[in-house]
Amino acid sequence: MGLLDKIKQAATETNSNLKDFFYTKDGDKKRIRMLCEIDDGFEVIMHSSYEKKINVPCQKQFGRQCPYCTETGIEDLKNKTQYVFPIFNQSDSSQQILMAIAYKEFSPVMPLITEYTINEQTTFCDRDYIIMHTGKGMSKTITVRGQKPCRLEQKITPWTKAEIMKKIDKAYPYKVNIDIQADEDDMPF
Ligand SMILES: [Zn+2]
Repeated sequence: MGLLDKIKQAATETNSNLKDFFYTKDGDKKRIRMLCEIDDGFEVIMHSSYEKKINVPCQKQFGRQCPYCTETGIEDLKNKTQYVFPIFNQSDSSQQILMAIAYKEFSPVMPLITEYTINEQTTFCDRDYIIMHTGKGMSKTITVRGQKPCRLEQKITPWTKAEIMKKIDKAYPYKVNIDIQADEDDMPF
């Protein structure tokens, strides 16, 4: 296979891995159902560097040595906690992973929990949530409203934590990031 085909294949694989993840962009309004209770969600630690374009899960979470847990010399390397829940995206008719930071304006996690709390719900899963995304970059705002549930067309078995971790590992492979970085450094222009 020529390099061009390899690049195309790699790009398609990355896209197909990412389609299991819930995401919104400016102007989106999506209807979702939570597939587990808040306490059944879990945390994933990501290492990220804006400068080096790194955004990968800490490899220790997969039982491997983690190159970013040791001294890397990357100045802006940070650890970010992401909160992870299986959801059903009714707008796209597919199960997805909601994986987001807690920071209020930029993520649906806190607005979801606030909506759950003010309605004194006993379960996270008995209604639909409408997630609205307006604005871009620093002016991005995510708002969430609970709504009477629409009937789900199919019976959904929520992905287990192990299944979700496998998808996260595939969608955010750390080797790719290191390779990209090396290639960029090697560029003659
Ligand atoms: Zn690590």
